[in-house]
Amino acid sequence: MKRIYMDHAATSPLDAEVLKAMEPFFSEKFGNSSSLHSFGKEAKGGLDWAREKVAEAINAKPKEIIFTSGGTESDNLALKGIAYAYRSKGNHIITTKIEHHAVLHTCEFLEKNGFDVTYLGVDKYGFVDLDELRNAITDKTILVSVMHANNEIGTIEPVEEIGKICRENGVKFHTDAVQTAGKVPIDVEKMNIDALSISGHKIYGPKGVGVLYLREGTSLEPQTLGGGHEFGKRSGTENIAGIVGLGKAMELAVKRMARESVRLALLQDKLSDKIQERVDGVKLNGHPEKRLPGNANFSFDFIEGEGLIMHLDMEGIAASTGSACSTKSLEPSHVLTAIGLSHVQAHGSLRISLGKDNTEEDVDYLVGVLPPIIKKLREMSPLNKDNVKEFENFGDSEHKH
Ligand SMILES: *Cc1c(COP(=O)(O)O)cnc(C)c1O
Repeated sequence: MKRIYMDHAATSPLDAEVLKAMEPFFSEKFGNSSSLHSFGKEAKGGLDWAREKVAEAINAKPKEIIFTSGGTESDNLALKGIAYAYRSKGNHIITTKIEHHAVLHTCEFLEKNGFDVTYLGVDKYGFVDLDELRNAITDKTILVSVMHANNEIGTIEPVEEIGKICRENGVKFHTDAVQTAGKVPIDVEKMNIDALSISGHKIYGPKGVGVLYLREGTSLEPQTLGGGHEFGKRSGTENIAGIVGLGKAMELAVKRMARESVRLALLQDKLSDKIQERVDGVKLNGHPEKRLPGNANFSFDFIEGEGLIMHLDMEGIAASTGSACSTKSLEPSHVLTAIGLSHVQAHGSLRISLGKDNTEEDVDYLVGVLPPIIKKLREMSPLNKDNVKEFENFGDSEHKH
Protein backbone atom coordinates (compact mmCIF):
# COMPACT_ATOMS: atom_id res chain seq x y z
CA MET A 1 0.00 0.00 0.00
CA LYS A 2 1.12 3.52 -0.78
CA ARG A 3 1.94 5.49 2.36
CA ILE A 4 1.18 9.20 2.45
CA TYR A 5 2.96 11.32 5.03
CA MET A 6 0.90 14.30 6.24
CA ASP A 7 2.54 14.96 9.60
CA HIS A 8 5.26 17.46 8.68
CA ALA A 9 4.68 19.56 11.81
CA ALA A 10 5.96 16.56 13.81
CA THR A 11 8.98 15.94 11.62
CA SER A 12 9.91 15.94 7.94
CA PRO A 13 11.86 13.56 5.71
CA LEU A 14 15.52 14.38 5.07
CA ASP A 15 15.95 16.01 1.67
CA ALA A 16 18.22 14.02 -0.67
CA GLU A 17 20.33 17.13 -1.36
CA VAL A 18 20.73 17.68 2.38
CA LEU A 19 21.96 14.12 2.87
CA LYS A 20 24.43 14.61 0.04
CA ALA A 21 25.79 17.79 1.63
CA MET A 22 26.18 16.01 4.98
CA GLU A 23 27.89 12.83 3.77
CA PRO A 24 31.50 14.06 3.47
CA PHE A 25 31.36 15.27 7.07
CA PHE A 26 30.62 11.71 8.22
CA SER A 27 33.63 10.35 6.36
CA GLU A 28 36.69 12.15 5.00
CA LYS A 29 35.88 15.55 6.56
CA PHE A 30 35.76 14.21 10.11
CA GLY A 31 37.94 16.88 11.72
CA ASN A 32 37.30 18.82 14.90
CA SER A 33 36.52 22.39 13.88
CA SER A 34 38.69 23.69 16.73
CA SER A 35 41.84 21.94 15.44
CA LEU A 36 44.47 24.04 13.69
CA HIS A 37 45.47 21.50 11.00
CA SER A 38 43.86 20.96 7.61
CA PHE A 39 41.34 18.43 8.96
CA GLY A 40 40.15 21.01 11.44
CA LYS A 41 39.98 23.68 8.78
CA GLU A 42 37.79 21.50 6.59
CA ALA A 43 35.32 21.03 9.42
CA LYS A 44 35.49 24.72 10.29
CA GLY A 45 34.71 25.49 6.64
CA GLY A 46 31.47 23.51 6.85
CA LEU A 47 30.55 25.15 10.13
CA ASP A 48 31.19 28.69 8.83
CA TRP A 49 29.28 28.01 5.62
CA ALA A 50 26.21 26.78 7.51
CA ARG A 51 26.36 29.70 9.94
CA GLU A 52 26.34 32.11 7.04
CA LYS A 53 23.40 30.37 5.32
CA VAL A 54 21.28 30.47 8.45
CA ALA A 55 22.20 34.10 9.17
CA GLU A 56 21.31 35.09 5.62
CA ALA A 57 17.92 33.36 5.85
CA ILE A 58 16.76 35.49 8.79
CA ASN A 59 18.71 38.71 8.13
CA ALA A 60 21.13 38.14 11.00
CA LYS A 61 24.92 38.27 11.33
CA PRO A 62 26.85 34.98 11.36
CA LYS A 63 28.18 35.72 14.87
CA GLU A 64 24.58 35.86 16.11
CA ILE A 65 23.98 32.21 15.17
CA ILE A 66 24.51 29.59 17.91
CA PHE A 67 24.19 25.93 16.92
CA THR A 68 22.41 23.67 19.42
CA SER A 69 21.02 20.14 19.57
CA GLY A 70 17.55 21.20 18.35
CA GLY A 71 14.51 23.35 18.94
CA THR A 72 14.07 22.13 22.49
CA GLU A 73 17.59 23.10 23.51
CA SER A 74 17.31 26.45 21.73
CA ASP A 75 14.12 27.27 23.68
CA ASN A 76 15.72 26.18 26.96
CA LEU A 77 18.89 28.13 26.28
CA ALA A 78 17.02 31.29 25.27
CA LEU A 79 14.70 31.33 28.27
CA LYS A 80 17.06 30.19 31.01
CA GLY A 81 20.04 31.97 29.47
CA ILE A 82 18.30 35.35 29.20
CA ALA A 83 16.37 34.99 32.46
CA TYR A 84 19.54 34.38 34.50
CA ALA A 85 21.56 37.00 32.63
CA TYR A 86 18.99 39.72 33.40
CA ARG A 87 18.04 38.48 36.88
CA SER A 88 19.41 41.62 38.56
CA LYS A 89 17.11 43.76 36.40
CA GLY A 90 13.92 41.84 37.17
CA ASN A 91 12.34 38.42 37.55
CA HIS A 92 9.21 38.65 35.41
CA ILE A 93 8.70 36.69 32.16
CA ILE A 94 5.69 36.81 29.85
CA THR A 95 4.71 33.94 27.57
CA THR A 96 1.50 32.37 26.26
CA LYS A 97 -0.65 29.37 27.10
CA ILE A 98 -0.14 27.87 23.64
CA GLU A 99 3.66 27.56 23.56
CA HIS A 100 5.45 24.31 22.82
CA HIS A 101 6.29 22.35 25.96
CA ALA A 102 9.96 23.20 25.44
CA VAL A 103 8.97 26.77 26.41
CA LEU A 104 6.17 26.00 28.87
CA HIS A 105 8.09 23.47 30.93
CA THR A 106 11.15 25.74 30.98
CA CYS A 107 8.94 28.56 32.30
CA GLU A 108 7.61 26.24 35.00
CA PHE A 109 11.19 25.41 35.95
CA LEU A 110 12.01 29.13 36.16
CA GLU A 111 8.93 29.68 38.36
CA LYS A 112 10.34 27.15 40.82
CA ASN A 113 13.57 29.13 40.80
CA GLY A 114 12.40 32.58 41.75
CA PHE A 115 10.90 33.92 38.52
CA ASP A 116 7.30 35.06 38.01
CA VAL A 117 5.70 34.02 34.75
CA THR A 118 2.55 35.45 33.15
CA TYR A 119 0.86 33.08 30.72
CA LEU A 120 -1.20 35.13 28.25
CA GLY A 121 -4.41 33.60 26.98
CA VAL A 122 -5.37 33.64 23.30
CA ASP A 123 -8.60 34.26 21.38
CA LYS A 124 -10.61 31.62 19.51
CA TYR A 125 -8.14 31.76 16.60
CA GLY A 126 -5.12 31.43 18.86
CA PHE A 127 -3.99 35.07 18.66
CA VAL A 128 -2.31 36.86 21.54
CA ASP A 129 -3.97 40.17 22.46
CA LEU A 130 -1.46 43.01 22.07
CA ASP A 131 -3.15 45.22 24.69
CA GLU A 132 -3.06 42.36 27.14
CA LEU A 133 0.65 41.99 26.44
CA ARG A 134 1.24 45.73 26.95
CA ASN A 135 -0.67 45.65 30.23
CA ALA A 136 1.24 42.61 31.46
CA ILE A 137 4.63 44.33 31.18
CA THR A 138 5.90 45.71 34.51
CA ASP A 139 9.17 47.25 35.79
CA LYS A 140 10.31 43.74 36.58
CA THR A 141 9.65 42.26 33.13
CA ILE A 142 12.86 41.12 31.43
CA LEU A 143 11.68 38.71 28.73
CA VAL A 144 8.71 37.99 26.48
CA SER A 145 8.51 34.66 24.64
CA VAL A 146 5.75 34.24 22.04
CA MET A 147 5.96 31.60 19.33
CA HIS A 148 5.97 32.67 15.67
CA ALA A 149 3.45 30.04 14.57
CA ASN A 150 1.71 27.42 16.63
CA ASN A 151 2.64 23.82 15.85
CA GLU A 152 -0.88 22.45 16.39
CA ILE A 153 -3.31 24.96 14.91
CA GLY A 154 -0.88 26.81 12.63
CA THR A 155 -1.87 30.33 13.74
CA ILE A 156 0.82 32.90 12.91
CA GLU A 157 1.25 35.42 15.74
CA PRO A 158 1.83 39.15 15.07
CA VAL A 159 5.51 38.92 16.04
CA GLU A 160 6.48 42.20 14.40
CA GLU A 161 4.03 44.12 16.61
CA ILE A 162 5.05 42.07 19.65
CA GLY A 163 8.71 42.84 18.93
CA LYS A 164 7.89 46.53 18.69
CA ILE A 165 6.11 46.53 22.06
CA CYS A 166 9.04 44.72 23.67
CA ARG A 167 11.55 47.13 22.15
CA GLU A 168 9.57 50.18 23.35
CA ASN A 169 9.55 48.75 26.85
CA GLY A 170 13.18 47.64 26.97
CA VAL A 171 12.21 43.98 27.27
CA LYS A 172 13.98 41.14 25.42
CA PHE A 173 11.86 39.23 22.91
CA HIS A 174 12.31 35.53 22.11
CA THR A 175 10.24 33.69 19.53
CA ASP A 176 10.06 29.96 18.86
CA ALA A 177 10.21 29.92 15.06
CA VAL A 178 10.61 26.16 14.70
CA GLN A 179 7.41 25.92 12.61
CA THR A 180 8.04 29.03 10.48
CA ALA A 181 11.77 29.10 9.68
CA GLY A 182 12.16 28.41 5.98
CA LYS A 183 8.38 28.52 5.46
CA VAL A 184 7.37 32.08 6.30
CA PRO A 185 9.66 35.11 5.80
CA ILE A 186 11.63 36.02 8.92
CA ASP A 187 13.61 39.22 9.37
CA VAL A 188 14.99 39.59 12.88
CA GLU A 189 15.71 43.30 12.29
CA LYS A 190 12.30 44.24 10.98
CA MET A 191 10.58 42.07 13.60
CA ASN A 192 12.67 43.36 16.55
CA ILE A 193 13.55 39.84 17.59
CA ASP A 194 16.33 39.35 20.17
CA ALA A 195 16.34 35.55 20.27
CA LEU A 196 14.81 32.96 17.94
CA SER A 197 14.72 29.16 17.89
CA ILE A 198 15.03 26.94 14.81
CA SER A 199 15.12 23.14 14.44
CA GLY A 200 16.69 21.15 11.58
CA HIS A 201 14.25 18.28 11.31
CA LYS A 202 11.15 20.42 10.71
CA ILE A 203 12.64 21.78 7.47
CA TYR A 204 13.82 18.57 5.73
CA GLY A 205 17.09 18.68 7.64
CA PRO A 206 18.48 16.22 10.19
CA LYS A 207 17.22 15.60 13.72
CA GLY A 208 19.29 16.63 16.72
CA VAL A 209 20.47 19.98 15.42
CA GLY A 210 19.05 23.45 15.86
CA VAL A 211 19.86 27.13 16.07
CA LEU A 212 19.46 29.87 18.60
CA TYR A 213 19.72 33.28 17.01
CA LEU A 214 20.87 35.75 19.68
CA ARG A 215 21.01 39.46 18.87
CA GLU A 216 24.45 41.00 19.31
CA GLY A 217 24.58 42.74 22.68
CA THR A 218 21.97 40.48 24.28
CA SER A 219 23.38 38.85 27.40
CA LEU A 220 23.04 35.12 27.87
CA GLU A 221 24.09 32.89 30.75
CA PRO A 222 25.42 29.73 29.06
CA GLN A 223 23.70 26.54 30.17
CA THR A 224 26.38 24.13 28.91
CA LEU A 225 29.91 24.87 30.06
CA GLY A 226 33.11 23.58 28.56
CA GLY A 227 35.60 24.52 25.89
CA GLY A 228 33.87 27.74 24.88
CA HIS A 229 32.44 26.68 21.53
CA GLU A 230 29.79 28.77 19.78
CA PHE A 231 31.15 32.07 21.11
CA GLY A 232 31.20 30.67 24.62
CA LYS A 233 27.39 30.41 24.58
CA ARG A 234 27.12 26.66 24.03
CA SER A 235 30.15 24.46 24.60
CA GLY A 236 30.72 21.06 23.06
CA THR A 237 32.41 19.88 19.84
CA GLU A 238 30.04 20.85 17.07
CA ASN A 239 27.89 18.30 15.24
CA ILE A 240 29.35 19.40 11.91
CA ALA A 241 27.45 16.98 9.66
CA GLY A 242 24.17 17.94 11.29
CA ILE A 243 25.00 21.64 11.16
CA VAL A 244 25.92 21.47 7.46
CA GLY A 245 22.64 19.59 6.89
CA LEU A 246 20.69 22.31 8.66
CA GLY A 247 22.48 24.97 6.62
CA LYS A 248 21.67 23.17 3.38
CA ALA A 249 18.05 22.61 4.43
CA MET A 250 17.70 26.30 5.20
CA GLU A 251 19.25 27.32 1.89
CA LEU A 252 16.81 25.08 -0.01
CA ALA A 253 13.81 26.17 2.05
CA VAL A 254 14.48 29.85 1.39
CA LYS A 255 14.93 29.19 -2.32
CA ARG A 256 11.62 27.27 -2.48
CA MET A 257 9.64 29.41 -0.03
CA ALA A 258 7.72 31.75 -2.34
CA ARG A 259 6.48 29.01 -4.64
CA GLU A 260 6.03 26.28 -2.05
CA SER A 261 4.06 28.40 0.41
CA VAL A 262 1.51 29.27 -2.27
CA ARG A 263 1.25 25.66 -3.41
CA LEU A 264 0.76 24.36 0.14
CA ALA A 265 -1.78 27.06 0.99
CA LEU A 266 -3.84 26.11 -2.07
CA LEU A 267 -3.70 22.40 -1.21
CA GLN A 268 -4.70 23.14 2.37
CA ASP A 269 -7.62 25.33 1.23
CA LYS A 270 -8.86 22.59 -1.05
CA LEU A 271 -8.54 20.03 1.70
CA SER A 272 -10.40 22.22 4.22
CA ASP A 273 -13.19 23.06 1.80
CA LYS A 274 -13.73 19.46 0.72
CA ILE A 275 -13.71 18.06 4.24
CA GLN A 276 -16.19 20.67 5.45
CA GLU A 277 -18.34 19.96 2.39
CA ARG A 278 -18.40 16.20 2.87
CA VAL A 279 -18.48 15.81 6.63
CA ASP A 280 -21.03 17.22 9.11
CA GLY A 281 -20.05 18.35 12.58
CA VAL A 282 -16.55 19.52 11.71
CA LYS A 283 -14.77 22.74 12.60
CA LEU A 284 -11.48 24.17 11.32
CA ASN A 285 -9.30 25.23 14.26
CA GLY A 286 -7.01 28.24 14.05
CA HIS A 287 -7.38 31.27 11.78
CA PRO A 288 -8.69 30.62 8.24
CA GLU A 289 -5.94 32.73 6.60
CA LYS A 290 -3.21 33.71 9.04
CA ARG A 291 -1.91 30.19 9.34
CA LEU A 292 1.07 28.10 8.34
CA PRO A 293 0.82 27.04 4.71
CA GLY A 294 -0.13 23.36 4.66
CA ASN A 295 -1.46 23.16 8.21
CA ALA A 296 -5.10 22.18 8.72
CA ASN A 297 -6.51 21.30 12.14
CA PHE A 298 -10.08 20.03 12.50
CA SER A 299 -12.36 19.03 15.36
CA PHE A 300 -14.93 16.36 14.57
CA ASP A 301 -17.94 15.96 16.85
CA PHE A 302 -18.32 12.57 18.55
CA ILE A 303 -14.93 11.27 17.43
CA GLU A 304 -11.92 10.14 19.42
CA GLY A 305 -8.76 11.41 17.72
CA GLU A 306 -6.63 8.37 18.43
CA GLY A 307 -9.11 6.02 16.73
CA LEU A 308 -9.21 8.37 13.76
CA ILE A 309 -5.40 8.34 13.46
CA MET A 310 -5.34 4.53 13.56
CA HIS A 311 -8.01 4.23 10.88
CA LEU A 312 -6.22 6.75 8.65
CA ASP A 313 -2.98 4.83 9.20
CA MET A 314 -4.71 1.65 7.97
CA GLU A 315 -5.49 3.57 4.78
CA GLY A 316 -1.83 4.62 4.52
CA ILE A 317 -2.22 8.19 5.77
CA ALA A 318 0.00 9.54 8.55
CA ALA A 319 -1.50 12.46 10.51
CA SER A 320 -1.78 13.47 14.15
CA THR A 321 -4.23 14.48 16.87
CA GLY A 322 -4.38 16.63 19.98
CA SER A 323 -6.25 13.87 21.72
CA ALA A 324 -4.86 12.91 25.09
CA CYS A 325 -4.39 9.20 24.52
CA SER A 326 -1.66 9.78 21.96
CA THR A 327 0.37 11.75 24.47
CA LYS A 328 -0.15 9.24 27.28
CA SER A 329 -1.71 11.84 29.54
CA LEU A 330 -5.36 12.33 30.31
CA GLU A 331 -5.42 16.02 29.43
CA PRO A 332 -6.15 16.89 25.81
CA SER A 333 -4.05 19.45 23.96
CA HIS A 334 -3.36 22.63 25.97
CA VAL A 335 -3.54 24.58 22.71
CA LEU A 336 -7.04 23.39 21.78
CA THR A 337 -8.34 24.03 25.29
CA ALA A 338 -6.72 27.52 25.22
CA ILE A 339 -8.71 28.45 22.08
CA GLY A 340 -11.88 27.48 23.93
CA LEU A 341 -12.57 23.93 22.80
CA SER A 342 -14.21 21.64 25.35
CA HIS A 343 -12.30 18.50 26.32
CA VAL A 344 -14.66 16.44 24.18
CA GLN A 345 -14.05 18.63 21.10
CA ALA A 346 -10.29 18.66 21.72
CA HIS A 347 -10.30 14.84 21.84
CA GLY A 348 -11.83 14.76 18.36
CA SER A 349 -9.09 16.73 16.65
CA LEU A 350 -7.09 15.91 13.55
CA ARG A 351 -3.98 17.77 12.42
CA ILE A 352 -2.95 17.48 8.79
CA SER A 353 0.40 19.12 8.01
CA LEU A 354 1.34 18.93 4.35
CA GLY A 355 4.86 19.06 2.95
CA LYS A 356 6.88 19.29 -0.20
CA ASP A 357 6.14 15.78 -1.46
CA ASN A 358 2.36 15.98 -1.00
CA THR A 359 0.36 16.37 -4.19
CA GLU A 360 -3.18 17.18 -5.21
CA GLU A 361 -3.78 13.42 -5.61
CA ASP A 362 -2.75 12.88 -1.97
CA VAL A 363 -5.31 15.46 -0.87
CA ASP A 364 -8.00 13.86 -3.06
CA TYR A 365 -7.17 10.49 -1.54
CA LEU A 366 -7.48 11.82 2.01
CA VAL A 367 -10.72 13.61 1.22
CA GLY A 368 -12.03 10.32 -0.21
CA VAL A 369 -11.14 8.00 2.67
CA LEU A 370 -11.91 10.36 5.55
CA PRO A 371 -15.75 10.65 5.36
CA PRO A 372 -16.43 6.88 5.57
CA ILE A 373 -13.99 6.58 8.49
CA ILE A 374 -15.75 9.40 10.34
CA LYS A 375 -19.12 7.77 9.63
CA LYS A 376 -17.94 4.38 10.86
CA LEU A 377 -16.35 5.80 14.02
CA ARG A 378 -19.50 7.77 14.81
CA GLU A 379 -21.64 4.64 14.39
CA MET A 380 -19.34 2.67 16.65
CA SER A 381 -19.10 5.45 19.20
CA PRO A 382 -21.06 5.18 22.43
CA LEU A 383 -22.01 8.74 21.53
CA ASN A 384 -23.85 7.67 18.37
CA LYS A 385 -26.93 9.43 17.06
CA ASP A 386 -29.34 7.87 19.59
CA ASN A 387 -27.18 9.14 22.39
CA VAL A 388 -26.35 12.51 20.94
CA LYS A 389 -29.06 14.31 22.88
CA GLU A 390 -27.89 12.79 26.11
CA PHE A 391 -24.35 13.68 25.17
CA GLU A 392 -25.22 17.29 24.51
CA ASN A 393 -26.98 17.54 27.84
CA PHE A 394 -23.94 16.04 29.47
CA GLY A 395 -21.84 18.72 27.78
CA ASP A 396 -24.14 21.44 29.13
CA SER A 397 -24.02 20.24 32.68
CA GLU A 398 -20.26 20.04 32.41
CA HIS A 399 -20.10 23.70 31.41
CA LYS A 400 -22.19 24.80 34.39
CA HIS A 401 -19.60 23.60 36.87
C1 LIG B 1 9.22 20.54 17.10
C2 LIG B 1 9.12 21.79 17.87
C3 LIG B 1 10.04 22.08 18.89
C4 LIG B 1 11.10 21.11 19.32
O1 LIG B 1 12.14 20.99 18.39
P1 LIG B 1 13.10 19.70 18.47
O2 LIG B 1 14.17 19.97 17.47
O3 LIG B 1 12.26 18.52 18.12
O4 LIG B 1 13.65 19.64 19.86
C5 LIG B 1 9.92 23.29 19.55
N1 LIG B 1 8.96 24.17 19.22
C6 LIG B 1 8.07 23.93 18.25
C7 LIG B 1 7.04 24.95 17.91
C8 LIG B 1 8.11 22.74 17.54
O5 LIG B 1 7.20 22.49 16.59
